[in-house]
Amino acid sequence: MEKILQLLPQLSQQQVEQLEALKDLYTRMNEKVNVISRKDIDNIYDHHVLHSLFINNIISFTNGTDILDLGTGGGFPGIPMAIIYPDVRFLLVDGRGKKIMVVQEIIEELGLKNVTAKHIRAEEIKNRKFDYVVCRAVASIDKLISWSRPLLKNKQNNAIPNGIFAWKGGNVKKELELIPRHEYTETYPLKEYSNYEYYQEKYILYIQG
Ligand code: SAH
Repeated sequence: MEKILQLLPQLSQQQVEQLEALKDLYTRMNEKVNVISRKDIDNIYDHHVLHSLFINNIISFTNGTDILDLGTGGGFPGIPMAIIYPDVRFLLVDGRGKKIMVVQEIIEELGLKNVTAKHIRAEEIKNRKFDYVVCRAVASIDKLISWSRPLLKNKQNNAIPNGIFAWKGGNVKKELELIPRHEYTETYPLKEYSNYEYYQEKYILYIQG
């Protein structure tokens, strides 16, 4: 938590309490449905919450921005982001209903009003568009691009053009090779924000919509 408070010194008391509640909530939920590996629950802040919140070093979203968390699993990065951006609207989707049940319960327990969770695959979303798609550990970048592109709004409301933020680990070079040359991309190495071993080979990739 300490690192998170350093990263976000402006959080309200309520936001800090919501973040602090995550460990117990996820420990309880994880007994029913495994959304975070058991071993990793103790690292929930260092590996999952902080990881999700590094986005704050890259962009600050305007109020009313619409964000899709594609393949949210147990709610990452969507839940921590929804806590720190109460004026941004989030839709968290996953193709597996069990995970969405967990996310739904977490949303209710935290009292978050800016988030909806839905059991649906990204390819099946109709009639809704977003400023950004965020996704962590879901699929290869070429798939993410093809699923996300039809879901991005044309109208721009933020300093960075609408697009995709993909949290990636491991061989990012290989991922970049899958992106057609004409795409505009940025690579943000997370080791610039943290000296934890865990982040030394992790990145957030941005692909313009
Ligand atoms: N983002 C979470 C979960 C990663 S596991 C985290 O970082 O912890 C990947 C999840 O993506 C799985 O729950 C899987 O069901 C979901 N998924 C994969 N492809 C999907 C698609 N096309 N639409 C919706 N969900 C998808």
